[in-house]
Amino acid sequence: MARRQQPTRNSRTGRGTRAPSDALPAELPALVEDWFAGSARDLPWRRARSGYHALVSELMLQQTQVARVLERFRPFIERFPTPTALAAAPEDAVLAAWQGLGYYRRARLLHRAAKAVVERHGGEVPADDHAALLALPGVGRYTAGAIASIVARVPAPIVDGNVARVFQRVAAREGSASDRGVVEWAWREAERFVQRAADPAAANEGLMELGATVCTPAAPKCGSCPLARECRARKEGRVDEIPAPKPRAARRDLVLVTARLVRAADGAVLLEQRPREGLWGGLWQPPAAECADGREVAPRAAGELLALPETVALRPTGEVPFQTTHRAVVFVVFEAGVRGAGAALARAGRRWVAPDELGDFALSNAAKRVLGR
Ligand code: SF4
Repeated sequence: MARRQQPTRNSRTGRGTRAPSDALPAELPALVEDWFAGSARDLPWRRARSGYHALVSELMLQQTQVARVLERFRPFIERFPTPTALAAAPEDAVLAAWQGLGYYRRARLLHRAAKAVVERHGGEVPADDHAALLALPGVGRYTAGAIASIVARVPAPIVDGNVARVFQRVAAREGSASDRGVVEWAWREAERFVQRAADPAAANEGLMELGATVCTPAAPKCGSCPLARECRARKEGRVDEIPAPKPRAARRDLVLVTARLVRAADGAVLLEQRPREGLWGGLWQPPAAECADGREVAPRAAGELLALPETVALRPTGEVPFQTTHRAVVFVVFEAGVRGAGAALARAGRRWVAPDELGDFALSNAAKRVLGR
């Protein structure tokens, strides 16, 4: 997507034009840009704009709260200051630096994106090339639009939950933000919105900021909203109804049998690496296995599920519940002390890890809880 000539503010107010009933008012970009100029939060990735900082922060922010990303962004950038440094790092080091952010699949995609940036773009994130951004691993339409518009001022549209909510309320567009028709409408409106903006960076980032800080899902601050005069949901008293709640996905509990095996000689614990795909993909944990028969598991059956030799005398220690975004997980926990080196237990994919080495391994929060850390 090429950069375009910037319109003047007067030419884009669009006053006098009649919009279709669910189209957004033409003056929206100007209102958002003016508001953002005086209301932008001071966030570390806004201080020194770069395609790399935007790529890292956008991937971190995809499913993690801003407060948590604020803690992890700076240390991550210090550890991997450039795409080249990130691409050259071993995957385990990247996963370890990602700890606390969850959804580790994003860390692996970011790692692959850095490698692609080095191979295809000489180590520079192609912030002004929307198509090249879209071709990077882990970069979808939203992330490509955010990087291109915010870093290079390319008029590329963005739609995330915050943007869709603001649009739906301003236009009093009914439905859930995940409805296909709403999503397609929001992307069309986002395209029109950014094409009318004097500064695509301020317009898009302001829109995200407005959704995150003013037009929040619950208790939006309509009294201090720059869009209050335009907002149909507010005028019609329907702010609480729009957008409609997302239909709930059916939840299925997951029961995992797990064993805390501690080597008597040095306190090392036995860990295994999870499969790369799926829940906690690629992270380390005490040996664990899904138990289809529920939570009543005898020690012998647990040992068999975990492929442990009969000589390991497991003792039950209770349950550890854990909630992921989509599932309730129950760990049925056993433990045992192991005499000697325990070499037979450290087979493919499992290894003994001394207490002072644990920080080098990316553990899921669930595994930390099972280990009592
Ligand atoms: S007036 Fe209220 S509902 Fe409408 S956009 Fe502003 S904060 Fe959201």
